[in-house]
Amino acid sequence: MKEYDIAIIGGGPAGIMAAIAASRTSRVILLEKNPSLGRKLLMTGGGRCNITNNKPIKQLLTFFNNKNFLKHSFYSFTNEDLFSLFDFDFITEDDDRVFPETERAADVLKCLSDKLEEIVISYNFEVKTISEDFVINDCIKADRIIIATGGVTYPQTGCSPDNYSLTTQPITDIKYGLSPLVTCEDLSGIAGVTLNDVVISYKKTKVRGNVLVSHVGLTGPGIINLSNEISESISYNLLAGEPDVD
Ligand SMILES: Cc1cc2nc3c(=O)[nH]c(=O)nc-3n(C[C@H](O)[C@H](O)[C@H](O)COP(=O)(O)OP(=O)(O)OC[C@H]3O[C@@H](n4cnc5c(N)ncnc54)[C@H](O)[C@@H]3O)c2cc1C
Repeated sequence: MKEYDIAIIGGGPAGIMAAIAASRTSRVILLEKNPSLGRKLLMTGGGRCNITNNKPIKQLLTFFNNKNFLKHSFYSFTNEDLFSLFDFDFITEDDDRVFPETERAADVLKCLSDKLEEIVISYNFEVKTISEDFVINDCIKADRIIIATGGVTYPQTGCSPDNYSLTTQPITDIKYGLSPLVTCEDLSGIAGVTLNDVVISYKKTKVRGNVLVSHVGLTGPGIINLSNEISESISYNLLAGEPDVD
């Protein structure tokens, strides 16, 4: 049985960042189901990685419903702290979205992965069980375990709803976020049409931004930003199936 201070499950951005921080004081093992780290990270921002947003924290928080939960994290690990991890610069585009100047998510992943040199990483290691005394898959024991297995979307990147049963701790409601919308109306005939800088409203919320008609509905920054508001007002259990809404 191998023993560690901290075992981190999942080698996406959350697991990698946890490993970098925890390894400063502890013996850490990072367990990743795939043969490589950060498969979803490579897809971000269309492969360019929209790594953060440069709006002042106070303003940024207004976009979230769980402000109090995020406030502490945003102030204790700022954009400046984030940028200091990389050996390249960043560019800021419209709506204060920040991208690496190389415009490659792969460079973000490489820079973070390089900081894991001292850390034991087990690839192709899918965590299936955690016993009450913190033994993982009957072969690794840790004093503490961080579960960073991601959400349920894009299962081809390694995510799975099965991971929610790894913990007996209560799990908050799981909802869609930053999602395109599927419409009942067939919009495929006008797919590709873009509406620039329009106001879209849902109930009392109004959002200004670009809208793109897709083959199945609506997408684009305006829709993606509004989607959280819609998601919040729908009552459903993502693990139990799709929401039944118009
Ligand atoms: C198409 C797309 C574009 C996106 N663009 C952006 C963007 O531009 N900017 C942005 O901020 N966010 C973006 N996101 C969201 C971003 O990718 C996620 O928020 C981020 O990847 C979450 O990081 P994570 O580490 O929590 O989870 P993940 O990146 O999902 O990583 C979880 C890891 O855990 C591993 N794992 C899962 N189960 C197990 C197990 N049982 N045992 C061992 N390992 C396991 C998985 O293989 C995976 O490597 C985008 C997402 C998608 C799908």
